Amino acid sequence: MMATIDSNTLALLQQRCPRCHEGQLFTHSAFNPVRFAEMPERCPVCSQAYEPEPGFYWGAMFISYAFSTAIMLVTGFLVYHLLHDPAVWVYVTSVAVAAVLLTPLSLRYSRTIMLYLFGGVQYQPRRYQPAGNR
Ligand SMILES: [Zn+2]
Repeated sequence: MMATIDSNTLALLQQRCPRCHEGQLFTHSAFNPVRFAEMPERCPVCSQAYEPEPGFYWGAMFISYAFSTAIMLVTGFLVYHLLHDPAVWVYVTSVAVAAVLLTPLSLRYSRTIMLYLFGGVQYQPRRYQPAGNR
């Protein structure tokens, strides 16, 4: 059995279902280059729908823009300091590589944050749920 996580933040970081904090939000690993974005329709543990309404994850794009901006700023900062302000192409290449490598994480966390903030799902540990919902 998986241990139940009571903290919303920890469950979010581990990309678990916002309702039971047990089911995984994504079917494959973030390192799977083709299927990293695949989500089941419902939580395999508590049957919570993972897409509360059609097109729900369009809004996640804005969160992912914020991630992209942060990735660019942090990469630029690191390149500046670690490589002692190199030529422009080094910045451009580093930022592009970092952005591509971090796309799966950025996409998955954008969706997870979207679901936690705007999905209207309350944490409901299974021990308090009626038997019919198990
Ligand atoms: Zn669940």
